Amino acid sequence: MALAINSPRGTADIFGDDIRYRNFIINNVKELFKVFNFEEMITPAFEHTGVFSRSIGESTDIVQKEMYTFPDKKGRSLTLRPEGTASIVRAVVEKKMLISENIPLKLYYIGNMFRYERPQKGRMREFWQIGAEALGSDDPLLDAEMIWMLNNIFVRLGFKNLKLLINSIGCSRCREDYIIKFREFIKPELTGLCGNCKNRYDKNPLRIFDCKVPGCRAIASKGPKINQFLCAACNEHFEKVKGSLSDLSLDYEISDDLVRGFDYYTGTIFEMISNDLASAQNALGGGGRYDRLLKEFGGPDKPAIGFAIGLDRTMMLMKELGIKYIDDESRAKAYIISIAAAGQPYILDVLKKLRDANIICDIDHTGAGIGAGIKRAGKKDYNIAIIIGDDEIENNKITVKDLNNFKQYSINKEDLLEKIIEIMGAIKND
Ligand code: AMP
Repeated sequence: MALAINSPRGTADIFGDDIRYRNFIINNVKELFKVFNFEEMITPAFEHTGVFSRSIGESTDIVQKEMYTFPDKKGRSLTLRPEGTASIVRAVVEKKMLISENIPLKLYYIGNMFRYERPQKGRMREFWQIGAEALGSDDPLLDAEMIWMLNNIFVRLGFKNLKLLINSIGCSRCREDYIIKFREFIKPELTGLCGNCKNRYDKNPLRIFDCKVPGCRAIASKGPKINQFLCAACNEHFEKVKGSLSDLSLDYEISDDLVRGFDYYTGTIFEMISNDLASAQNALGGGGRYDRLLKEFGGPDKPAIGFAIGLDRTMMLMKELGIKYIDDESRAKAYIISIAAAGQPYILDVLKKLRDANIICDIDHTGAGIGAGIKRAGKKDYNIAIIIGDDEIENNKITVKDLNNFKQYSINKEDLLEKIIEIMGAIKND
């Protein structure tokens, strides 16, 4: 009997047009990171469980319900990464990368993440994130630069209709005062909260703000606002961040209820949302400061800030909005069709010249004739057909067909590259 196996729920096979979208996004973001002076880092897809449970926080949804945790054959508890920051911080501390001449240490990553969530549109169990981390400095300008970079990712990709939300959740001292007041407010509302949030009331009331049950969030949002409880230092920092965002002419909105779902955040937090997405999954990316995390991992007592964007969600929205990936239009893609009886050296010479010139090209191996070859080339998105018959070989010529407008040219073999450049120039200016 045939083996019928589907991909696991909440995972995706990525191929065809999706790969082209994905590569377009990745290449664009990498280019932007380069401009902002970030370097790539790759960390393992799984870590010792404590790397995540202790940093993300025991009372978060992720740690309580969503981690893929398993014992390895020696009984060690490992977890597939649900996010990227904790791994980067673990690695930076372990490899002692945060030396003074490196500060701020600017790193980025691209990786698959795993969360056992209820799959739905824009929410998967294996998904991809691109994230950036700047470690070692608490300069408010760095906060603004990170927010600027997050914003520019989506501007570069062609998104409009975006909203940049920012808030400050202060340091642990500001939060102590706030949590007393917030508990006082929530106490009479406890019966309206879900079971999880009833526990959170005792352990970590801030997490009620990012409960997946909308009713819990609605109750929390009527309470006191965390940004009203900032100490003088946190307030000054946040004011400077806002000032720098204005200097950069970035539009933002203060979101009093934004807390973001990880315990490690301190101070400035931010999120990029799309007005074009359904509200439950409208976040394209977000991040914030995590000034205590390096120290908690046994590293230097240095501040840091980072963000991550969802690659799958970004790609999904681009497709939905009809934002086209810009396929390198100036790139020629040539298909060589030959019906010459003894033309191999001639054809190979052309093929070699084209490939040496970085032109994507291939030969028609079907031998089905010129008409069939041209049809095939069109179907496979070639923009140029190169036709070589006995006549061409005899006269040192090549027939070049521009498949975008079906114009055909007979040219000298030596002029091929020049002709292709000319044709591609015309396509670009169409
Ligand atoms: P977070 O790490 O939760 O701050 O998420 C950062 C970004 O990753 C979000 O804004 C989403 O774009 C994306 N993301 C988070 N969880 C998922 C998921 N389960 N499926 C797809 N994308 C996700």
